[in-house]
Amino acid sequence: MGIERYRTPRSLEEAAEILRAGNVTVLAGGTDLMPQTQSGKVRFQPVLMNVRRVPELQGIAEDGGVVRIGALATITELLESKLVRERLNLLWQACDHFASDQIRNAATIGGNVCNASPAGDTLVPLLALDARVVLAAKPNGALETRRVPLGEFIVGPGRTCRASGELLVAVEVPRPPAGFAGEFYKHGTRPGLDIAAISIAAGARRDGAVLRDVRVAFGAVAPTVIRAPRTEAVLEGRSPDAAALAAAARMALEEVQPISDVRATDWYRRELVHNMLKRVLTHVCQL
Ligand SMILES: Cc1cc2nc3c(=O)[nH]c(=O)nc-3n(C[C@H](O)[C@H](O)[C@H](O)COP(=O)(O)OP(=O)(O)OC[C@H]3O[C@@H](n4cnc5c(N)ncnc54)[C@H](O)[C@@H]3O)c2cc1C
Repeated sequence: MGIERYRTPRSLEEAAEILRAGNVTVLAGGTDLMPQTQSGKVRFQPVLMNVRRVPELQGIAEDGGVVRIGALATITELLESKLVRERLNLLWQACDHFASDQIRNAATIGGNVCNASPAGDTLVPLLALDARVVLAAKPNGALETRRVPLGEFIVGPGRTCRASGELLVAVEVPRPPAGFAGEFYKHGTRPGLDIAAISIAAGARRDGAVLRDVRVAFGAVAPTVIRAPRTEAVLEGRSPDAAALAAAARMALEEVQPISDVRATDWYRRELVHNMLKRVLTHVCQL
């Protein structure tokens, strides 16, 4: 089935109305959609809806301790945002490891989230930062929105719980606690241009001699991006000495389920998780 109509809504109301009618493929930057349709992995619906002109999907702003990132924010916009660099530095670092300038100028955060790749670079820090997604739809003719934690939104490799009539409007990220510091690590042959073989987002804040608000998330080591709650628990309230960091790295190995593919074997991914998590946590404790 080919594309029969190309739509360019100018408002969220209009976009939601088009979606309500059904058989729509949403297009943002196209950096996932175009290769996926070219390769036959994804088939276009009869209506192709380019959402780039929907103003409600744009902008990056802070309100009441929450940073709202419009679904259309590109990786370049995130990198150029002082707010993201200062408030959500873990996300900023991930954008700094994302593809090339050409891709960064087109790729949107909404597309990265909806594509739900286990290796999606923005997903790992967003998960660590307790992000939620904002979805909008017009099921009964009136615009309705709902918020879903990112960890619940992504339900499998390439799969989300977004209903076909819903549009991802924004990603909301609560401002991390004062003193929180984090580091993003991505392993690939060419870390900028490659899809991650593994990625790590880890952070915490120092409270005297101990760590608090410990967050650890991984990419490309399970069917989806994952938080590592048992690894976090090993460090929570504990002094970050060598024994604690080693115990956290050992626990991480119990939380990941890597596979072997073109980018790395499962054995190599496990070695990376163990060794690089220790290094990342050591850096975090020095920040
Ligand atoms: C050469 C190359 C290098 C890449 N490198 C990286 C990398 O380093 N790291 C990385 O994480 N990714 C990488 N990618 C993948 C891709 O660039 C990202 O996933 C990007 O963020 C997708 O955003 P987009 O706006 O292009 O999405 P699109 O391709 O437009 O859409 C992706 C999917 O999301 C849906 N969608 C988009 N926006 C919405 C919305 N608002 N509401 C509902 N559904 C929506 C679309 O229907 C589609 O299914 C790379 C891709 C290429 C081609």
